[in-house]
Amino acid sequence: MPPLTPLMPVAEALAMVLSAAQHINETIDVPLLDAHGYVLSQDVLSTIDVPPADNSAMDGYALRASDTEQTLAVSQRIPAGTVGSPLEEACAARIFTGAAIPAGADAVVMQENCTEVAGKVSVSGSVITGQNIRYRGQDIKSGDTVLEKGRILRPQDMGMLASIGCARAKVYRPLRVAVLSTGDELFEPGSGELPEGGIYNSNRYTLAGLLSNLHMEFVDCGMVVDDADATAQALRNASELADCVITTGGVSVGEEDHVKAQVQRLGRLDLWKLAIKPGKPLAFGSIGNTSFIGLPGNPTSVFVTFCLIARPFLLKMQGVAEPESPRLQAVAAFSVSKPGGRQDYLRVIVENTSQGLLAKKFSNQSSGVLSSVSHSNALAVIPPGVVVSEGDTLEIILLDSIAG
Ligand code: AMP
Ligand code: MG
Repeated sequence: MPPLTPLMPVAEALAMVLSAAQHINETIDVPLLDAHGYVLSQDVLSTIDVPPADNSAMDGYALRASDTEQTLAVSQRIPAGTVGSPLEEACAARIFTGAAIPAGADAVVMQENCTEVAGKVSVSGSVITGQNIRYRGQDIKSGDTVLEKGRILRPQDMGMLASIGCARAKVYRPLRVAVLSTGDELFEPGSGELPEGGIYNSNRYTLAGLLSNLHMEFVDCGMVVDDADATAQALRNASELADCVITTGGVSVGEEDHVKAQVQRLGRLDLWKLAIKPGKPLAFGSIGNTSFIGLPGNPTSVFVTFCLIARPFLLKMQGVAEPESPRLQAVAAFSVSKPGGRQDYLRVIVENTSQGLLAKKFSNQSSGVLSSVSHSNALAVIPPGVVVSEGDTLEIILLDSIAG
């Protein structure tokens, strides 16, 4: 018997795909309102201080901290958006949140600690210089790099760019990712009742959602039957429409699995047996200038291999500086008595308890059971050869961080 080829560790496969990922260089300019999810193609520097002037953090009275032993005449009223005049000696200015501090004032006392009678205000309690003043540039200074190239723009980033007066953002155009589902057994939901031997195509929908989360363009190439010529035609077509083609199914070793042979014919292909569970066969290569990833067929394997391998690859192609997702730690509320030969990504429900995060295992971990993903909120990473006892600390990946 020939010796068994060792399975490729997940980290090795990830390192290989990341080193092969070429990031697209085409940039576009989008209005800031539409910028959510795009990836910045250049650093953004501020040309102003934020806030642009010292201003009040409270509704109250602006005064000199050294003056508060006495009753002060209220000499002016400064609502937000107006500019007061320099504060006269022994006076206070009625001021509102966000209004610029008048020259001469060095503190704001909140109105709850002030009593104003007949145009004079007295203050209770001590007053410290600088209190309730938001100083010019305390958030951002002119010349600061506020966001770096390669960053995915989040809602808070859009707000921050607006705060420095940016109306548009220079970003990479969204990656075009073609998705092709293989299998004679597949039927589209909505196409009628399932015939005997048929199943509904779920992978197409999972991948559409995952790509939409990444703000990439889902190029829907539908389904292809298990036939060599049809597969070649569909792959050629998909490769002309996209930066990357992702297929599901058809990468095992059966004679009904045509993807591998056809990619080899049209382009270049490596087929890996990954030490990953769920999942295992994963094809990686290219057709012309288009990258190619062949995911397994089982719906849960598709989810896991996409999130662990394809997602970081696509993000790197998209120009994202940090394509990998963060890991957390949780305590196992279950045990794994038999060490596995592959790195297992168990579908778990993580709860926040007084002892910290607790991971409960979803009952059915079969790679065909997609509800294990729908009803979980994290993947618990169990390395090959490792057994788990209840109470052990595990590495987890929150699904919100990879598929939220
Ligand atoms: P394959 O790798 O093509 O042998 O597929 C492995 C398993 O995944 C089989 O049970 C297929 O029926 C199933 N499968 C393949 N593609 C899909 C799909 N698009 N949606 C749901 N199940 C699929
Ligand atoms: Mg198949």
